[in-house]
Amino acid sequence: MKVRTRYAPSPTGRMHVGNLRSALYEFLIAKHAGGDFMLRIEDTDQERFVEGATEIIYRTLEKTGLKHDEGPDKDGGYGPYVQSERMKTGIYMKYAKELIDKGEAYYCFCDKERLESLKTSVVDGKEITVYDKHCLHLSKEEIEKNLAEGKPFVIRQNNPTTGTTTFHDELYGDITVDNSELDDMILIKSDGYPTYNFANVIDDHTMNITHVVRGNEYLSSSPKYVRLYEALGWEVPTYIHLPLITDENHKKLSKRSGHASFEDLIEQGFITEAVVNYIALLGWSPEDNREIFTLDELIEKFDYHRINKSPSVFDIQKLRWMNGEYIKMMDFDKFYESALPYIKEVITKDMDYKKIAEMIKTRIETYRYIKDHIDFLQELPEYDLHMYEHKKMKTDMDSSLKVLKEVLPILEAQEDYSNDALYATLCDYVAKNEYKNGYVMWPIRTAVSGKQMTPGGATELMALLGKEESLKRIRKGIELLENR
Ligand code: GLU
Repeated sequence: MKVRTRYAPSPTGRMHVGNLRSALYEFLIAKHAGGDFMLRIEDTDQERFVEGATEIIYRTLEKTGLKHDEGPDKDGGYGPYVQSERMKTGIYMKYAKELIDKGEAYYCFCDKERLESLKTSVVDGKEITVYDKHCLHLSKEEIEKNLAEGKPFVIRQNNPTTGTTTFHDELYGDITVDNSELDDMILIKSDGYPTYNFANVIDDHTMNITHVVRGNEYLSSSPKYVRLYEALGWEVPTYIHLPLITDENHKKLSKRSGHASFEDLIEQGFITEAVVNYIALLGWSPEDNREIFTLDELIEKFDYHRINKSPSVFDIQKLRWMNGEYIKMMDFDKFYESALPYIKEVITKDMDYKKIAEMIKTRIETYRYIKDHIDFLQELPEYDLHMYEHKKMKTDMDSSLKVLKEVLPILEAQEDYSNDALYATLCDYVAKNEYKNGYVMWPIRTAVSGKQMTPGGATELMALLGKEESLKRIRKGIELLENR
């Protein structure tokens, strides 16, 4: 049987890291097995619908390379691929009625007041109302009368109150629950829309889905889904419920963390490929613990049996590291194009942007960090004079002052401010005075940058700054050291 997986997002906002992981794993499972990956839009919860969210889904899938073989924009013979459109075909009502005929579901006409008066109990910290099956006992005549009068209704699943239900999850194994814990969940709402709980079963079956990958928040409802499959005489798909993704404090990754969605991460200057690579490792690892993969390599290596069921911690430091690796591997022209807007944001003076990009390419972890590496080029920061002291270079404030005063006239006389020419001039000065290289370069680099760490050496920085600015900064260094 051909493997068919689906990504079934609800258009409720940005694409959460957890959703992207589900999409990625579904994509990888399908592609690894030469199967099809499908997109289905689950928009039956009209209250949660957010304008523009469907576009975000398309954009994100496109950007991350998770190309769907079928979906609302790509018919594969299983459409419609949007649940509100599927509803119009009558498909959900048809199966709900079949379940009613089989005694597995029933009409419920209870109004709000009655439902509110029912006993509540607390499950997983949430208060829930367990329906008391009141309407299960209505006579055929009563039901028909209510329907004829146009009385609002929902359709509920009729779950047994005794016995147990068992289902299998690829990660969690066999799970058995007491049927007394299964509430008679709503299948069709009073507005005629199916609930997610019902639609996911009908759609996954009628769209021939073989593997269902989703967050483990759906684990507790799965016995009810399995009962629906069984009631309809359908084969249950392979279930893979993914572990929770937590932040560094082991709390559920939430909007507050600031990096909970794909778009948040892109806005923070992360590279799409690095994000996809990192997300693949949130719960999965290959045999050899390798970490850097292209999407094609992931397709080849992805074996869902290696998904881990313990919670995955979203470690932003690790993602930064990975992003840095991707920047290092990136083709220079591509890097230059993406980095340029970030460079221009900091450097508004006329400067060799390409040279700046070359210097920072191997040093930054994300584009956001570009600023920290280069802002001294725009303006000399205030700096601590102790920075002139360097044990290994054998420099201190006195020696630095002496060197700066000696090189100033040489650099004033220098016409060619290219890196090579400046370097030759200074090496000449070093040799004549029998100094060590660092003894001279350290104070110059400190004076022209005001920083402990810079993306380039003294002469590279002077070449970028130009003659006038370099001399101004060296004079400033002399002044600061003299007046200390
Ligand atoms: N629409 C559900 C969600 O966005 C999909 C869950 C599933 O994959 O079945 O959470």
